[in-house]
Amino acid sequence: MQDNTRTEIASLGEFGLIEHLTKNNDTTNAGTILSIGDDAAVIDQFGRQSVISTDLLLEGIHFDLMYTPLKHLGYKAVAVNLSDIYAMMATPTHITLALGVSNKFSVEALEEFYEGVYAACEKFNVDLIGGDTSSSKTGFVISVTAIGEVAPDKYVTRSGAKVNDLICVSGDLGGAYLGLQLLEREKRIFLENPGIQPDLENQKYLVGRILKPEPRADITEWLQEAGIMPTSMIDISDGLSSELLHICKSSDVGCILYEEKIPIHDDARKMASEFQLGAVAAALSGGEDYELLFTIKQEDYEKVACNSNISIIGYVTEKKEGCNLLTTGGNKHKLTAAGWTAV
Ligand code: ADP
Ligand code: MG
Repeated sequence: MQDNTRTEIASLGEFGLIEHLTKNNDTTNAGTILSIGDDAAVIDQFGRQSVISTDLLLEGIHFDLMYTPLKHLGYKAVAVNLSDIYAMMATPTHITLALGVSNKFSVEALEEFYEGVYAACEKFNVDLIGGDTSSSKTGFVISVTAIGEVAPDKYVTRSGAKVNDLICVSGDLGGAYLGLQLLEREKRIFLENPGIQPDLENQKYLVGRILKPEPRADITEWLQEAGIMPTSMIDISDGLSSELLHICKSSDVGCILYEEKIPIHDDARKMASEFQLGAVAAALSGGEDYELLFTIKQEDYEKVACNSNISIIGYVTEKKEGCNLLTTGGNKHKLTAAGWTAV
């Protein structure tokens, strides 16, 4: 009998879909050390370990060319991939770059894009070693694969968090989302009234957070120099709550996150109130901040506490306690991928 079942992708969601499609994924090569399910895969080649990650950026889904300068886009396409390599505590070394290009692009436009690609390669000491180019009928398509190296078995996964570990995050959160809201608002105003030029001069921080994210190479380097091996790590591409839930699920633990400890830049707070959004909600579910979220052993507390680029925002609990946000007002909320819900 023919099976006419049709399941909508939306019923699974992005992560459910990946899990569903890869549930029978088997690895057969002895060199496959870590497969699907982390920021990057790890393969062993004759005793040396390489870390590999791929990301796709699509026009209209991940970026809007109306307010994204091509040079910034080239930089960001590389940067967000390198972020996944740093999130393994590895050092990126190479990238490949595949492009789908529509005929609305000129050679000069693509040169500008490559200026950004090379700026990122130079800054993070990475070589562009290949790729692919095709025409596209559906807008600009960018796929980057990043490769990195790590000392044997010194990579950090999402799955090593232990009860009582401290939860840490680098930099500040929510800025990229608020920068995006600002650009979207200015776009609407411009489309309604093309005579008005957007004035973003006072919003350099937030606009920079969305258009030119910086992967936290400095944080992994500092952790290495300080002799701190995080027990788990992930980069924040989707939002603090979603990423923390990934760590908790992979590590089979729960967590307590303190609202008051979540680092938020003053500009983000101001913009959140202008948009009548919660700054904490932007940090929890906004995404694209490309900061590092990681857990450390209690014994590393003092070393980390004196680094002003790192905030300690909570701690790991038994799985049965669940994943919770403790609000400034003392209420406990259940963390969800989209932020939190009252319990
Ligand atoms: P990140 O946000 O760090 O880029 P993702 O959420 O995109 O990670 O991916 C989670 C895991 O699923 C990664 O290990 C990734 O390699 C894997 N993955 C994503 N899409 C696919 C796919 N279509 N087929 C196989 N594995 C995938
Ligand atoms: Mg990641």
